[in-house]
Amino acid sequence: MIGMISNILYPLLNIDVRTLISVLFWGNIISMLLVYSFSISNPFSRDKALSSYYVLAKLFQSPAYFLLFFRGYLPDIFSVHLGNTMLFVGFYWEARSMLAILQNDNGKCHKTVHAISVTSIILFNAAEIIKPDSPPFRVFVSSICVFLTLCIPTIMLLFGRRLSNFKRVVGLFYVLFLSMLLPRAYAAMETHTSLLSNTLIQTMTFLALVLLMIFSLSAYLLLIKESTDKVLRTMATTDSLTGLYNRHTFTLAAGRVLEKHKNTGSVLALIFFDIDDFKKTNDQYGHNFGDMVLNLFADALRRGVRSMDLICRYGGEEFLVLLPRADSAAALQVGLRVQSALCQVLAENELTFECTVSGGIASGLPHEPDTLKTFINQADNALYEAKRKGKNKLIVWDESHNAQKPFRDM
Ligand code: GH3
Ligand code: MG
Ligand code: MG
Repeated sequence: MIGMISNILYPLLNIDVRTLISVLFWGNIISMLLVYSFSISNPFSRDKALSSYYVLAKLFQSPAYFLLFFRGYLPDIFSVHLGNTMLFVGFYWEARSMLAILQNDNGKCHKTVHAISVTSIILFNAAEIIKPDSPPFRVFVSSICVFLTLCIPTIMLLFGRRLSNFKRVVGLFYVLFLSMLLPRAYAAMETHTSLLSNTLIQTMTFLALVLLMIFSLSAYLLLIKESTDKVLRTMATTDSLTGLYNRHTFTLAAGRVLEKHKNTGSVLALIFFDIDDFKKTNDQYGHNFGDMVLNLFADALRRGVRSMDLICRYGGEEFLVLLPRADSAAALQVGLRVQSALCQVLAENELTFECTVSGGIASGLPHEPDTLKTFINQADNALYEAKRKGKNKLIVWDESHNAQKPFRDM
């Protein structure tokens, strides 16, 4: 059985090492050009910054393989020392680009990768002085150092907090490719001559580097896409100023809540909040200050509502809260909590100017397909009544309020 497997595997692994190094040279050039064209045609400056690390990595790696390819034809100082040094720098930037995607580019990881790379370069080039007659020591240093440099982003991919499953899969692949670099380091220290010349280990190492190059390019582009998708999703679903749900997302989420309530036959409520005299605040303190007040009110909403409630910036200084399984009395309690949370937030920020909010409340059983629209209109009419009665009030809707204000056109 083992014989059969090795009969199949041997031809697959029987690849000339110089061919693999040539593939690494061309492959890294192509990867660099591809990512560079992606970065210059990409409107997101964040993606451009991420791509620049990757392009730098390839910019060092491709000439490094070029120099390694001509080993024996060029003096060792170029093919061995300069070649490997450039390779370490290339892998340093590759690790940095992965950390940047993981948004972990400023912390300890960055410093560790930096320290490993600098140590690798010094140790590799000093190996000549430490052990002048021992090329295996250099080989050991180079294999272990590349392994350790890429280990840091791999560990972050595997064990970082709140990462997508895709990132974990990428981490697992990195473990696979990196572990293929270890036999070479082991063989280098095991015996000084026989195992090092073992072509199978050499082939495996460079094959691992080729696979890593192909994999890291695809993984890199997909990781960029994943993080861009996340940014776009946030932009499409939330209000950019307050981070609350936008109207569209709120309507979709509310539709699901209403559907559930239709099935269970339980009541729910909606509060329509509107900041009082907000135009005056803008006129008096400026638009930026107004924006800050909107943000503070969003904080007050987050503090005041229950965890199951849906909050949305409906537009301008108007906000909606949908309260599942709540009647008007429960909604009134939430409304009062939001009002007092607003006072708290203002006090915490040492703002003494008068800022109040009014709210209209509608509640009931979900019925028609237009329940949400009806709730919004009723709460809006109750809000109108709150404004009419002097503001800084919460009013629960009843039939009489409809006479006060015509239905808002939605
Ligand atoms: P009322 O008590 O009756 O609600 O009066 P009001 O002044 O709050 O209401 P009005 O509708 O007259 O004014 C709302 C103001 O909100 C006008 C508009 O410039 C301002 N506004 C809308 N969106 C924003 C925003 O994103 N940022 C800032 N700073 N102001 C905004
Ligand atoms: Mg308004
Ligand atoms: Mg207002």
